[in-house]
Amino acid sequence: MSYPHVRLFIDGQWQDAADGRTLPVFNPATDQEIGRVAHAGTPDLERALAAARKGFETWRDMPAIERSKIMRRAAVLLRERADLIAALLTQEQGKPLAEARGEVLAGAEIIDWFADESLRVYGRVVPSRGSLALRQMVLREPVGPVAAFTPWNFPINQIVRKLAPALAAGCSMLIKAAEETPASPAALVQAFADAGMPPGVIGLVYGNPAEISSYLIPNPVIRKITFTGSTPVGKQLAAMAGQHMKRMTMELGGHAPFIVAEDADIALAAKIAGATKFRNAGQVCISPTRFLVHEAVADEFAAALSERARTLKLGDGLAEGTQMGPLANPRRLDAMQRFTEDALRRGAKLLAGGQRDGATGQFWQPTILADVPLDAAVFNEEPFGPLAAIRRIKSVEEAIQEANRLSFGLAAYAFTRSLRHADLLSRHLEVGMLWVNTPALPSAELHFGGIKDSGHGSEGGPEAVDAYLNLKSVAVMNV
Ligand code: NAD
Repeated sequence: MSYPHVRLFIDGQWQDAADGRTLPVFNPATDQEIGRVAHAGTPDLERALAAARKGFETWRDMPAIERSKIMRRAAVLLRERADLIAALLTQEQGKPLAEARGEVLAGAEIIDWFADESLRVYGRVVPSRGSLALRQMVLREPVGPVAAFTPWNFPINQIVRKLAPALAAGCSMLIKAAEETPASPAALVQAFADAGMPPGVIGLVYGNPAEISSYLIPNPVIRKITFTGSTPVGKQLAAMAGQHMKRMTMELGGHAPFIVAEDADIALAAKIAGATKFRNAGQVCISPTRFLVHEAVADEFAAALSERARTLKLGDGLAEGTQMGPLANPRRLDAMQRFTEDALRRGAKLLAGGQRDGATGQFWQPTILADVPLDAAVFNEEPFGPLAAIRRIKSVEEAIQEANRLSFGLAAYAFTRSLRHADLLSRHLEVGMLWVNTPALPSAELHFGGIKDSGHGSEGGPEAVDAYLNLKSVAVMNV
């Protein structure tokens, strides 16, 4: 299957880096180099910044109804091209084709929702305290050109969650997408270009992440930054943004507790656990990671989840019937090995998987560890892979305490038939998102984001647009 040479998108044109530098792209299912991506240098970034400034002025001054039409056209094109884009995404990232296609279609949904939302960016008129000749308004205006840094786990959707609300607000965006997965973001940007997006409104670059972020964040053209990735990198970028007083949104790591109470529907909990844990081979920021299961039902739950892990079909995401693909890069494979060995050394029991699968490709068997001690690395660092760590708990109160122990605060799942438990969980869990008796529901209209070390800001709902707007109070006396 063909894979393109991916270039930089600057000022409405695809172009190679000025110095011709490129980076290799690998297929994690085969370890083969499948293509190359242009590596931007400073002259490329300078041109991209100038284009983002010009693009911002054009886009800001376009009536919202016209902007919304372009966004909707891009969503139509994405849907039409879903099969093609999914094939690129699977080759570069590894996830099964059906998941890749689902990601493209979900991206189109999000764009549509924000295209509609762009029509409702209103200010307000506030009655004066004195003369009625004084007209007071609070206006909402786009912040300006935004720099976005996105990761490789959802190459399309991590961009869409930033780009769609930014466009809805009237901002331009210069995207530094992940070098591991460059072709599907390029296809997303192409859909916008074909939909009639004026030059400069969207830019796409690749290169050395640290060099690019330290060049773009301090630059006065950039008025806001948005990042999705690990907490340590997020903290570095947030510090830099603070130094230059730039607004920011941070979507960082998580360590989602999955709480199963004594009164839960165990079959439902195990089914949802299996589906959410192994989606995208566990490389999902909201993936459940700490399974806190009541001691009365722990064995039944662990047996059902292990059965699911053992029967999951691992393979190349392009192959028919594959249910879980490889990990996206060798770093994750090393991490799985380290987490598993550490937990076993500390006394955990291995119920399924536990090792690399095959000598070619970055495959790790779906792994279930039970009776995992609290000091095991997997119970403290984000595993970001197909590894479920189970612990017995005596009460929902104990589970809440354990859930809040870590500095992460992104997502949580809970299973209970008790209203009292549901109420306790919704009031006391320190997370940005909680799903009770249901899989994750990250739809465009709902808040999406974390607290504590998982970041701040929202990439869902009307608040996601607010994140790209400035407020301005204007008072006009009619004299
Ligand atoms: P990493 O910390 O090296 O990189 C994470 C992301 O940040 C990558 O996309 C990378 O290109 C980017 N990045 C790194 N340094 C940067 C810099 N100085 N400026 C701008 N961007 C920079 O980790 P990794 O090995 O790629 O991924 C593993 C970890 O990252 C996981 O454990 C997970 O915590 C986190 N992660 C989270 C998400 C998410 O959805 N929140 C997505 C991908 C990775």
